[in-house]
Amino acid sequence: MSRNLLILLLSELKTLRFVCKNQGCGAVSEVSPAQASSMFYTSPKCVACANMFYVQEAFKGNPIVDFIKAIKDMQSPDVAKHLDIEFVVAEPVKK
Ligand SMILES: [Zn+2]
Repeated sequence: MSRNLLILLLSELKTLRFVCKNQGCGAVSEVSPAQASSMFYTSPKCVACANMFYVQEAFKGNPIVDFIKAIKDMQSPDVAKHLDIEFVVAEPVKK
């Protein structure tokens, strides 16, 4: 079966969308990786409902900040001149 593929390069990633899935919220925050890092550094909570995005006791440190830091590090010129990462999303086949 052939499928359409959407490929996003990490170097093209400029905006992160955080969608709160806490009950009754659904707030969306769109920020740059740099903004996201400071936004969640001290408090990994939804800016609308103030609920945590994860159970803090389940992790050492802050996985959101770790994830954002990894994105920023991989986008740095020292890495980007040698490597890009592609995120591949298969689109449903339209009949
Ligand atoms: Zn929320």
